[in-house]
Amino acid sequence: MAILVCGGAGYIGSHMVDYLVKNGEQVVVIDNLCTGYRQAVPEGVKFYEADVRDGVALDKIFSQNEIEAVIHFAAFSLVGESMEKPLAYFNNNVYGMQVLLEQMVAHKIDKIVFSSSAAVYGEPKRVPIEEDDETLPQNPYGETKLAMEKMMKWVNKKYGIRYVSLRYFNVAGASLDGHIGESHFPESHLVPIILQVPLGQREALTIYGNDYPTADGTCIRDYVHVVDLAAAHLKALSYLRAGNKSDIFNLGSGNGYSVRQMIDAAEKATGLKIKTVVGERRPGDPARLVAASDKASRVLGWQPQYEDMEKIIATAWQWHKKHPHGFRK
Ligand code: UDP
Repeated sequence: MAILVCGGAGYIGSHMVDYLVKNGEQVVVIDNLCTGYRQAVPEGVKFYEADVRDGVALDKIFSQNEIEAVIHFAAFSLVGESMEKPLAYFNNNVYGMQVLLEQMVAHKIDKIVFSSSAAVYGEPKRVPIEEDDETLPQNPYGETKLAMEKMMKWVNKKYGIRYVSLRYFNVAGASLDGHIGESHFPESHLVPIILQVPLGQREALTIYGNDYPTADGTCIRDYVHVVDLAAAHLKALSYLRAGNKSDIFNLGSGNGYSVRQMIDAAEKATGLKIKTVVGERRPGDPARLVAASDKASRVLGWQPQYEDMEKIIATAWQWHKKHPHGFRK
């Protein structure tokens, strides 16, 4: 039986597919290629270019393949864009989840691992953030991820589809052999943007504010290597395979790195000086977001293997050096 990876051609999805294949799992991928890349999916993996909102396409995929479980990454994921296009986010993310669950019910697929986000918490009342802390999203992106979690909760009650929702904090890095990595246009995440400076694609990194109440004044985030994240999804699947009940887990390392610390680590990883300028704060950026990650460790037996930021960034550097324009030709 196979695992259906929705959004398997995207940044995190493609690392998931790679990880599943390396762990002997059979994989089927669906991706509409709106932000993903066909080249990110290995040759031998069955690939459908289709949208999760397309119930007819999903019906065909579930009929043609023996699918045991779904891992769901197919969603829009940019906070700023979600403020500009809230309805596009609800349509793609929430309606997409509805159609996917309808087809899972119809085809009696009873397990789903879902890619959620720390954005469901909004501005945290305390740090580290625990799973049962208040959820009060501050943007449509976080709101859609929370709605998708809630949809799974009620569908679980009625139809017995069990789920694990994984709330990611910040993700970074690339596969260790450098064949897949992050490729977004325009790029919006810190690590690839930092690396555009040594790649000669950007004059300087703009630090979004240095007057936050942190030791060096820049924002603190909790970064996890993308391969560790993939490993957590397989642990979550094993947890569901073992018959355990639906649950929600933070995926973070529990360690916070400031923007300045990230730049220092990138300078060490690349051996190059990275020019910076200090700019305005980015609206909606909390000063400090760090996960309490002991639940994932305790219940799923998951521990990040890559804790050294210089090493995490070195894997990203290896990918970007080999593919300075990502998957674009
Ligand atoms: N950041 C920055 N300059 C950039 C991009 C990001 O200073 O060009 C900061 C941003 O304010 C945040 C951190 O880097 O504190 C991580 O941002 P990213 O967009 O990667 O992830 P987010 O935390 O928003 O999910």
